[in-house]
Parts: sequence; structure tokens; C-alpha cells
Amino acid sequence: MRFTLPSPAVFQRLIQSAFLIFCLYSGWKFYHFVQWMTGHSEIPVTRPASVEAFLPIAALMGLRRLLESGVWDVVHPAGLAIFLAALGMALLLRKGFCGYVCPVGLASGLLNRLGRKLRLSRVPGPRVDALLHAPKYALLAFFLYTVFVGMDLRAVEQFASNPYNFVADARMLHFFLDPSSLTLMVLAGLAVLGVLLRSAWCRYLCPYGALLGLLSWGSPVRIRRDKDACVQCGRCSASCPGGIPVHLRDDVRSPECVGCMRCQSVCPVPGCVTLRAWGRDVPFWSIGLGCVALLLAVWLLADSQGLWHQNLPENMLRMLYRQAF
Ligand code: SF4
Ligand code: SF4
Repeated sequence: MRFTLPSPAVFQRLIQSAFLIFCLYSGWKFYHFVQWMTGHSEIPVTRPASVEAFLPIAALMGLRRLLESGVWDVVHPAGLAIFLAALGMALLLRKGFCGYVCPVGLASGLLNRLGRKLRLSRVPGPRVDALLHAPKYALLAFFLYTVFVGMDLRAVEQFASNPYNFVADARMLHFFLDPSSLTLMVLAGLAVLGVLLRSAWCRYLCPYGALLGLLSWGSPVRIRRDKDACVQCGRCSASCPGGIPVHLRDDVRSPECVGCMRCQSVCPVPGCVTLRAWGRDVPFWSIGLGCVALLLAVWLLADSQGLWHQNLPENMLRMLYRQAF
């Protein structure tokens, strides 16, 4: 029996769905952990460290502290490890984190699909598009300036030892489980925007993606279009979630490329669009599987070095959780 590879789109959705299920499972487990810590349940539950992936500001602070003092964050150690893995992915595998790992990327893709079905999805012209990119870079500049310039090491350490930081993950859970009406209105607005504008959140608003996109410029992996073979049908550009005019580029090194390989799968000319790394053609699944492998490697390494799980006194945590909730 011959094994047939799924199409790039199906392959991407499979990996994204696996990560979404994992996130939902982690959230469900963390909810029961908080219930136990706050005395609402008698059943002990282990804290899933992976929930720290949803604390990017704490991870950025942890990175600053690591770079300046060599100390690994003990409050959200897994968050720092996942953040470093995401940076590594960007440097090696373009924005594979956004394209395959992040659940918001999946939601963005589904909204994009809905927008196309309803014939509402648009990609603005180059000038408006460039202007719309400003907010995410402004947000990124703000966070980088605040953490790396505006705060000294003492302030970063004070942030790390603040009780708010200790229960930031539980506050995040609370934010998702009990959203205010303003939060719901903002989320609804973003969903509508995602239907109207292709990948609106990821392309125009997410500072995390902006950082990964900038780092991805250094990635050895890129999309290559054979301009001699190309028949200029424009299908690659029409299918690109990053709104990249692939049919006009020989090499795609855009910070918006998430490595989904849709451009390759829709191209009618075999071999016209290829994925290249270090001057060689590589299979379309390299970015997706590379991201999974890198994340697993970082998890195994961090866990083996005791840099994954929080190692804080249970009584102190229990008191902080009870005070906060
Ligand atoms: S250029 Fe190709 S691989 Fe990159 S985001 Fe667009 S469709 Fe996906
Ligand atoms: S889909 Fe292929 S043939 Fe059509 S414009 Fe893009 S690269 Fe050229």
C-alpha cells in the first residue's frame, strides 16, 4: 500500500488542529488545577506548564532577564522556553509558528475562508496595506522599548516576583472564561475584520507575529518562483494568506510568509513554485514538521534541564491563587 501525502492545505490544518486540541486540553486541565488550588475542588491536578505559552509579555521579560543576568525565569519557565522555540522557528523556518502552531493563526485562516466563500475577503492595495501594517510594528516597538530600554534589570526582577505575575496564567484563563462585554465586542469586531480583510489580525495587529516576521528575514528557507516557467495566472497570489504578490516575486522573503505552501499547491505549472533551503529544493512539509520537531526538542531539552515546570512552594501559590480569585 502506497502512502499518499495530504495536500499542503490539509497538512497545515492537521498540524494546526493538533495544536488547537492540545491547547484546549491544557486549558481544561489548568482550569481544574486552579479549581483545586482555590479550594473549589478536592481532586489534585498537575499544572500544565504549556499554558505559559499564552503569556508572551512575561516571556519577553524572562528573555531580557536571561540575556542580562543569565537567570532562567522560575515563575513561567515553560513560557520562556516556548518563546525561544518560536524565535528559533522564525530564524530557521520563516513564520512557521504563525502558520502551524498558533491557534489564532487557525482562527484567522478559517475567517479568511469564510470571507472568501462570502466573497467579502479583500486585500487592500499596496499603499493602504503598508499603512495597515503600522499598528503591529508600533505595538512591537512599544513592548521592545519598554522591556529592553525603559526598564532596568531591577524593575524586570520586581515584575517577575510580583504576585500578579505568579497568577497571570490564571487571570488569562479567567479572561477567556468570563469575558466582559467590551472584550466580546472587541473579539466580534476582530472576527468581522478577519472576514473582510485577509488574515487581518495576523497581518496588521499581532506584535508577536511582527517580531517573528522580522526575524524570518534571516531564515534560509524561502519560496522560489521560476519566472521562466510562470504563466502569470496569479493563482499563487490569490491563495496566499499573507497577501503576498507571489506572481511578481522571484524569491519570497516577505515577513508575512507563514510557509503554508498554498502558492505551490495551486500553481498549474509543475515545479514552478518551490520551497528552497540553503540553495536546494525541499519538500512542502519541511516547515510544518520542522516546527513540530523544534518545539518537541525544546520541550525535551528544557524538561531534562529542569527548565520547564514551575518549582514554587505550593502553599505560597495556593495563597496567591486564593487571594486573586
Ligand atoms: S508565499 Fe506561499 S507559503 Fe508563503 S504565505 Fe503565501 S501562500 Fe503561504
Ligand atoms: S500560480 Fe504558478 S504559474 Fe500562476 S502566477 Fe503563480 S507561480 Fe506563476
